[in-house]
Amino acid sequence: MISSLTPLFSRFFTARRKATWLVLPAVTLVTTLALVLGTAIATPAQTYPVQVSPSRPTLGDTLLCHSSKVTNNAVPPTVTASGTTYPTFPIAPNRYRALVPTSPNTPPGRMTLQVSGPEGNNSIAVNISNRSFNTQYITLSPGRAELEGTDHEFDRLDALRALRTPTRYWNGPMTRPSSGRISSAYGNRRYYNGVFANDYYHRGVDYAAGNGSPIYAPAAGRIALVGRVADGFVLNGNTIGIDHGQGVTSVMIHLSGFAVNEGDMVEAGQLIGYMGSTGFATGPNLHWGLFVNGISVDPVPWRYDGVE
Ligand SMILES: [Zn+2]
Repeated sequence: MISSLTPLFSRFFTARRKATWLVLPAVTLVTTLALVLGTAIATPAQTYPVQVSPSRPTLGDTLLCHSSKVTNNAVPPTVTASGTTYPTFPIAPNRYRALVPTSPNTPPGRMTLQVSGPEGNNSIAVNISNRSFNTQYITLSPGRAELEGTDHEFDRLDALRALRTPTRYWNGPMTRPSSGRISSAYGNRRYYNGVFANDYYHRGVDYAAGNGSPIYAPAAGRIALVGRVADGFVLNGNTIGIDHGQGVTSVMIHLSGFAVNEGDMVEAGQLIGYMGSTGFATGPNLHWGLFVNGISVDPVPWRYDGVE
């Protein structure tokens, strides 16, 4: 085993020595040129410039990681954070952006985002502040049967959240999907019978209004999912899924009826359905979940500041 590896090692070191000899004169030449011309060259090894916003994120925020290419290779870079790799999409000539989701389950503190591609690697660190979410204490009676979902609804929702459509359909801040009052905010945590539910957080915002009140698309997109109770959406109830493009999707559940069909293109503010209490709901309400690359994020920054 060892002897068969030896040629590999020697080839590796030979190649590295060769590269060093090749690079050194070029660096010296560039530095000399820079001195002569009076310009500052930070580093001769060019790789992706990286920027992240917001500069002071908290749990639930969507991080925007901007990069650009320094050569004319055709392959866009990717962004890796906490072991997950996210696609980048062109948002302007030679400008790429990845959306990196955070949630109440993200460990607060330092997160490193690494941009990788044919031009090498570059990384940037951002500090994610902790944030306190409301806590609910739920008491389940011993004999109570939990309503279970079906494979059909879970599979279809997984497929929706897995969409990474290159086209960006949303534009500007998202709009309110219902005129009802907000009955439950994003991120609420829960105790069940006194035990903290580690994985649970409220993956959306609830709006409460009358049965049959209108529900509007929060942003433009394609209706990628119309799920009916009769077809197996027993936990979520009647459901609409919207593909806003570039890994951003909306899920609206507990509807009483639909005003759209799968495949329809909708505009922000367009009527898409009607509030109801289908599925696991205690009364008429709309649960709107906003997903970024499959993770439920806080819609508030998307509603008020807009994510471009
Ligand atoms: Zn909800």
